[in-house]
Amino acid sequence: MQVKIGLETHVQLNSKSKIFCGCRNPATMKEEPEPNTLTCPTCLGLPGSKPRFNRAVLDIALRIALALNCNIQPAVMFSRKTYFYPDLAKNYQITQYEVPVGKDGHLEIVAPNGKKRIRIRRIHMEEDPAKLVHSGSFVLVDYNRSGTPLAEIVTEPDFSSPEEARLFLQGLETILEYLQAYDPDTKAVFKSDANISLAGGERVEVKNITGTKEIEKALKYEMVRQANALRQGLSIERSTVAWNPDLGVTQMLREKESEEDYGYIFDPDLVPIDVTQAMLAQAKHGMPELPHQKYARFVKQYGISQKLAEALVAELEIASLFEQAAGKAKPAIAATFIAGDLKKTLNWNELRYRSSGLKDEWILYIVEQIERGKLTDRNAEMAARRMVEEKRHPKDVIKEHGLESATLDLQSVLKPIVEQNAKAVEDYRKGEKKAFEFLVGQAMRATKGTVQPEQIRKELEKLLK
Ligand code: ZN
Ligand code: MN
Repeated sequence: MQVKIGLETHVQLNSKSKIFCGCRNPATMKEEPEPNTLTCPTCLGLPGSKPRFNRAVLDIALRIALALNCNIQPAVMFSRKTYFYPDLAKNYQITQYEVPVGKDGHLEIVAPNGKKRIRIRRIHMEEDPAKLVHSGSFVLVDYNRSGTPLAEIVTEPDFSSPEEARLFLQGLETILEYLQAYDPDTKAVFKSDANISLAGGERVEVKNITGTKEIEKALKYEMVRQANALRQGLSIERSTVAWNPDLGVTQMLREKESEEDYGYIFDPDLVPIDVTQAMLAQAKHGMPELPHQKYARFVKQYGISQKLAEALVAELEIASLFEQAAGKAKPAIAATFIAGDLKKTLNWNELRYRSSGLKDEWILYIVEQIERGKLTDRNAEMAARRMVEEKRHPKDVIKEHGLESATLDLQSVLKPIVEQNAKAVEDYRKGEKKAFEFLVGQAMRATKGTVQPEQIRKELEKLLK
């Protein structure tokens, strides 16, 4: 099935204050503030109030545009996008239309059939409108959100599957986190609209897909819906639908209006600002090492596999945790535990490392224990699970659950096994590998998983010589 998908993603940026006034930016908060407590005449759209552009938002937007390889436009200009909606007090949204901050960029994703370059059409800044709160037979307006800074990132229709769209959003979210443009542990919203068309049908816009988890589901649903309609000889008209995550379906909103219908005009309250060399230099100076750069460095510097490196850089705090651990133990051991058991356990509990309540020193402790042979891989996994669930120092967890490798005399365990399994020993001496593995299995059972299999193999070989 031939499908074309493009994305428009809105992300609330984490500048301290809003984009056109000095009110505190609710996107930086961990708790939802009381309604209508973060407002002033400007973000309430009162007559006589004037917007003033917050340069901190430009600095963030420039970093995003640079990270996505965009051409930076020489001037910042704002326009009014006029429409009526009860959450829009001024009846227009201040946005960038004719001249976005960045144009013609790209981001590379690792799709199932190889690397793929997704073109970025544009990145622009705009204000978020207020929020409607539906309450019984009333609709209330909360103006806290009004004036929250947004970056809108628009791709070309370069995705040929819902999975590619998800991989792109995951990559984008990681970059935004690295840039400190967006903090997933706050109330900040990361939301996408998708354009999707099948060969033989018109383009349908799917609104309101939150985060990175829903995108694949929403697009798969829409793909099947359109394919079924086309198969039955129905036509797919240009339209807008909304994704309903609770029902797992898309629902018709309206026939699509065109951009021209919004009657854009340049906003006379906001004069153009030149993007100077000094501003660009500052943005470049604030650029951190990006995920793909960190990935390449990890593979080279630590000699770990591409797969492990990829898993480590997907979360900034995990990447820096790994670098600490790699200073204390063999990088391969640190990478395998952190990208493997630790991440698996966090994912299972739907936690991100940063907000999990775990401490770096706890993870470092486990890695050191593995390195020193005090913890087998299997018991390290157990320790990780208990540590995440009980939020306790692994030292206590390991002691309490008896996970530590016994300091036993392996030979005294192996000798009786060899004596009691004369047939297997004989087969092994005849060159049967299976017989050796059988003896290893017996020894592992006897030591209850507290000894690494490699160690058992080594000792057993010695004994049988
Ligand atoms: Zn305000
Ligand atoms: Mn927008």
